[in-house]
Amino acid sequence: MLQTNLREIDVDMDVDQVADYIVAHGARAWLIGVGGIQAQYPTELAFHSKNLRLSQRHSGDLIADAVRAAHSRNLRLLARMDFSKISAQAAAEHPDWCYLSSTGDLQEHSGDLVSVCPSGGYYQERMFDILDEVCERYPIDGLFINWTTMNEVDYYKRYHGVCHCSNCQKRWLEYSNGLPLPSGPNDPEYAVWLRFSRDLIDNITARVRTFIARRLPDAGLILGKTADIMFHEANNAVGRELWHHNTSEVISTWTSYRPDVPVLSNSTTFMDMPYRMASEEPAHFAQYFLQCISRGGNPSTYMMGVPGKIPYLCMDVAGEILRFHKKWDAVYNGMHPCAKTALVRPDRAYMTASQFVDSLSEFRGLYSSMQEVHILFDVIAQEHLVATSENGGLGRYSVVVLPNVGKLNTSEADVLDNWVALGGRLVATGNSGVGDGGAVQLQSLPSKHQRAVISKRELLFSSYVAPAQPERSVHTYTGPIIPLVGTYTLYEWKANTRNKWGVLARAPFAPPEKAYGNLQVDQCGFSVGSHHQGKGIVIPFTIGRGYRELGLRVFRDLFTTVLMEEGKLEEQCLVDVAEQVEVTLNQNGKKTVLHMINMSGARKQNFGSHIPIAGGSVRVPSSAISAHALVRDEKLEIKDGLVNLPTIDRFEVVVVENN
Ligand SMILES: [Zn+2]
Repeated sequence: MLQTNLREIDVDMDVDQVADYIVAHGARAWLIGVGGIQAQYPTELAFHSKNLRLSQRHSGDLIADAVRAAHSRNLRLLARMDFSKISAQAAAEHPDWCYLSSTGDLQEHSGDLVSVCPSGGYYQERMFDILDEVCERYPIDGLFINWTTMNEVDYYKRYHGVCHCSNCQKRWLEYSNGLPLPSGPNDPEYAVWLRFSRDLIDNITARVRTFIARRLPDAGLILGKTADIMFHEANNAVGRELWHHNTSEVISTWTSYRPDVPVLSNSTTFMDMPYRMASEEPAHFAQYFLQCISRGGNPSTYMMGVPGKIPYLCMDVAGEILRFHKKWDAVYNGMHPCAKTALVRPDRAYMTASQFVDSLSEFRGLYSSMQEVHILFDVIAQEHLVATSENGGLGRYSVVVLPNVGKLNTSEADVLDNWVALGGRLVATGNSGVGDGGAVQLQSLPSKHQRAVISKRELLFSSYVAPAQPERSVHTYTGPIIPLVGTYTLYEWKANTRNKWGVLARAPFAPPEKAYGNLQVDQCGFSVGSHHQGKGIVIPFTIGRGYRELGLRVFRDLFTTVLMEEGKLEEQCLVDVAEQVEVTLNQNGKKTVLHMINMSGARKQNFGSHIPIAGGSVRVPSSAISAHALVRDEKLEIKDGLVNLPTIDRFEVVVVENN
C-alpha cells in the first residue's frame, strides 16, 4: 500500500500521475485522506468541515477522481478517515464531543482544531453519518480510521492526562464500580482505566465493522483489534529511545495470535510528526519493511502530500522491497509463523508504570538474547495469551517464556498450567506468576511461595549468580560470574525440584583492601521442576534486564543454555550466522521460509549502512529437497543436510522445499 497523507493544498493533485507513481512503486492499494478532520469531497453534513480549495478541481471532488484513477489501474482505493479532531467552530457548538482535562481544559491544536473524546456523541453517532455519506457515494475498497485513541497526548507530545468529560465520567463510574477516575499513569487506577479505554475503543471498532460490512460488504476495515486488517504504524520519534526490533515484535504479536488475519505495517517516510519534511534514513526505513515481511506482515509506505513534492530519500528502497514482496507472492500469500518458542510481551494494562518499565526491559533483553544466538521465536502479546490458547495456537509452542511479568490474571495462569501439563516447558523469570501476598499462581512452576524481592540497587551491589562453587570459604571462584542487577526474588521451593547454580552473597566491594568475601548461599540461579508431561523453570533474577542494561554475554549465555537444555528445544532449522542477523521462521504449505535481516547498521536512533555478512549456514530438516535464496534468486545446494548461505547484503530469504 502507499499512503498519500494529504495536506489541504494537495487537493489539486493530478490523480492519474499519482496513481501511476503508486503502481510503479509496487503498491497494490492507495490510501488517501477522505474525511473526518477535513472532507476532500463535497460533503453535505454541516458539522463536517470541507476543504475550501476543492473548487480548484474541475470536478470539485478529489475522491471521485481518485477512485476512477485507481480503479482504472487495478489499484484498490482505501479511504483514510480521522475523527480525532474537529474544527474550533464545531467544538464551540458541541463541547460535549471534546476531550476535557481534569482541570476543565479543552485540547487545542494549531490549525484551529480541537481534540475529540471517543466517549462522546461525535464518535458514538455523528461519525456514522460521515461514514454513511462516504460509503453511499464512493465504491471504496477499504477504510482506515486514524488515531482512535483517548487523546492523552497531543501533537506536541504534551501529556494532558486522562479525559474527564461528562461522558467519560459516566462510563467510568459504571465500569469501575465507583473507583476514582485517575489523572494519569502514576495513579493506581490507571491500569484499570487502560482496560476501560481499550474496551471503549474495541466497542467503536466493532460497531464500525458491522456498519461497513453492511454498506460495503467487500471492503476491509483497518482499525483496532476487532477489524478485518490489523494495523501498525512503524515510525521514529524525537526523544524516544529506539527499540531496534519494534516492527518485528509488533507484527509477530498479531501473526502469532491469528495467522490468517492480515496485518498492515505502514512505514513513515519522515523522521517524526514535528519534522514531516525530514526524510527517514533509507537504511532505517528498509528495516521497517524487512522486519514486517519477515513476520508475515504486509508492508506499506506512508508519505506526506503528492509524490515528488518533498524529497523523501527512502522511496527507492521502499519500492525495491515492495516489488520484491509482490514478486514472491506465492511465498508470502498464506505464510504463517512456525517457531517453537514464544516470548510473552508484558501488558501495561495489568501493571503499574514502574513494573512495566522493569518487565519491558526484561522482555527486550530476552528478545535480544534469543535473536543473537538464533533461537527462532514468535512474540505473544500477554493480552492475546488466553485467546491464543482458545484458538489452539499455544499448542504449537514447546517453550514459552514469561519475562518478569508479575501477577497474572487467573485465566492466564490456568491456560499456562494446562499447556505445561500437556508437555509444554515454561520459563518464568523474576517474579512472573506471583500473585497477592507472594502466592505463586502457577502450579506448573517449581516455586511455592515468594518470600521476598530484593530490588534496591545497593542491596544487590556485589552480589552474583555463579555455578555451584566447589569450596565455600576460599577466595578462588569458578565462573562465569553474573552480576545481579534489577531484582532477585527469594522463593520457597517445592520438594523434588532441582535447584541449580547459586548466589554469591554480597560482600564489601570498596575500598579494594576490603573487597572480598562473597560466599555462596542457599539460593539458586535457576530451578527446574516437573508438572505432568511438562516442566516449569524459574530464573529468580532479572536475567534479561541484566543483559539489556549491562550487555555482558554471561547473562545471554546462561539464559539460552537453560532454554536449550532444560527447554529441550528442537529447532526445525539450525542457523549459524553472525549475531547481527535477525532470523525468523515461517512456513507456507511444504515450504519453510527463513528471513535473515542484516542488522549490522544499528546505531543509536536508527540504522545506517550495513556490513555484508558472509559465512553463514543453515542445517535443514531431512525432509528438505531444495533450497532457494530469493534475493539472489538462485538455488542453494543442500549437502549432508547443510546449506551454505550466500553473503547477506541487506537481507536474504531462504525457502526450503520439503517433501
Ligand atoms: Zn472523555
